[in-house]
Amino acid sequence: MSDTHTQYGDEDVESFRLRAREWLRDNFEPRPPGRSGNANLRGVEHTTVESVRPEREKQRRLFEAGFAGITYPREYGGQGLSPDHERAFNEEAAPYLMPELGVAGGTTFNVCAKTMLAHASSAFLERHIPRILAGEELWVQFFSEPEAGSDLAGVRTRATRDGDRWMLSGAKIWSSGAYYADYGMCLARTNWDVPKHKGLTWFAVATTAPGVTIEPIREINGDAEFCQEFFDEVELSDDDVIGEVDHGWRVAQTMLVFERGGGDDTAFVPDVAGDDIAPDLVALARRVGRDKDPEVRQLIAQAHIYDFAGVQLAERIRIRSRSATGIEAGIAAYGKLASGIFGAIRGQLGMRIAGPEGHLWESGDVEGMTAAIGYLNARQFAIAGGTNEMQRNGIGERVLGLPREPSFDSTRPFNEVIRAARNWDGKVG
Ligand SMILES: Cc1cc2nc3c(=O)[nH]c(=O)nc-3n(C[C@H](O)[C@H](O)[C@H](O)COP(=O)(O)OP(=O)(O)OC[C@H]3O[C@@H](n4cnc5c(N)ncnc54)[C@H](O)[C@@H]3O)c2cc1C
Repeated sequence: MSDTHTQYGDEDVESFRLRAREWLRDNFEPRPPGRSGNANLRGVEHTTVESVRPEREKQRRLFEAGFAGITYPREYGGQGLSPDHERAFNEEAAPYLMPELGVAGGTTFNVCAKTMLAHASSAFLERHIPRILAGEELWVQFFSEPEAGSDLAGVRTRATRDGDRWMLSGAKIWSSGAYYADYGMCLARTNWDVPKHKGLTWFAVATTAPGVTIEPIREINGDAEFCQEFFDEVELSDDDVIGEVDHGWRVAQTMLVFERGGGDDTAFVPDVAGDDIAPDLVALARRVGRDKDPEVRQLIAQAHIYDFAGVQLAERIRIRSRSATGIEAGIAAYGKLASGIFGAIRGQLGMRIAGPEGHLWESGDVEGMTAAIGYLNARQFAIAGGTNEMQRNGIGERVLGLPREPSFDSTRPFNEVIRAARNWDGKVG
């Protein structure tokens, strides 16, 4: 790690902003116009180990200049500055081509690192956070399993004590970006004799560790960003544990809040109240020659109203997160549910605006495929990180105080649950 990493003390936000503005101007290229804001283009460009290498280098430059981990503690390589500093930086960085680390980059910085800071030991943080900030470690999430998605506490991947080691065996699925990441945060069952929410532990698993097999899965958008992992007696140590052994559910809850966009008041929320009306759909309408069509103009206005509502909601959640004493899962669920609903509507609006031209494009024509890819990707936000139905359940139970769903398994030892489920007679309790 470079020793040119600098600390800036208690610099005020405005001078930090000016310094960031100058540094960005001198070091990063401006973002070209056109590829704009709201389109969900996940899968259009396939991220590879090679394509991410120069982007890791850009991240390192950001780190060495003192602009990575702005709110992270200084003892772990961060800048120890306020959310206002970070937001100022994000505003200044918006017009530039920042390090593009793909879906694993977003997971690393927005979810995994923040969860580690909340739960991991200081030795773990000293080992990993500076390397994350310098672009040397990309992390993904290994939590979903074929039989544990919405019912996440039902994971069956096991980590078994063997002297001073842990042996990890099982399988995970839907891990975004695992094929080019360095580590996965893996949820495993460490105790089968207690109810399912107890007896879970998080581990850091190197993607290159002996016994780890990663297989990409082809997606509807043509990409293969999702992965399935198989763990065959992967050797881990106590140093790899994140949080406390058998108390992984607490860590999982923190992680899901970050994944759902909660607990973060540093995000730059763009102002869509002005002239910037659904810019991707305006560009689409122009490209297919329908920008004067009154029906299409109505559809664009409709998308703008959803964008506006989404941005206002994000801003409100950001303010609530700031004033909340802890990380509030209930608040995050509103934003996640809104993106799950609005995403699907926007995908449909895009296809209606594009008309027949939305179905055909020349190979490699990114603009031409925008509507179709946006449509195919539209369900992602309704599922990833907790489905729309699970967000509604969460809001009903945690925010509105409605009765909890009936459960036949939450108080029994997990090994009994599996046996009972096989012979379930349909009675609850
Ligand atoms: C784009 C994307 C990225 C993802 N990235 C990752 C990743 O990086 N790492 C990872 O580990 N996982 C990842 N996932 C997996 C994701 O977390 C799961 O898909 C999600 O939790 C849902 O689980 P499931 O697919 O098993 O669906 P299931 O849980 O089987 O649900 C099936 C259906 O039943 C409904 N349902 C289930 N339980 C209830 C209930 N109690 N009440 C009402 N309805 C219910 C659901 O809403 C859904 O409609 C990703 C998924 C997507 C789409």
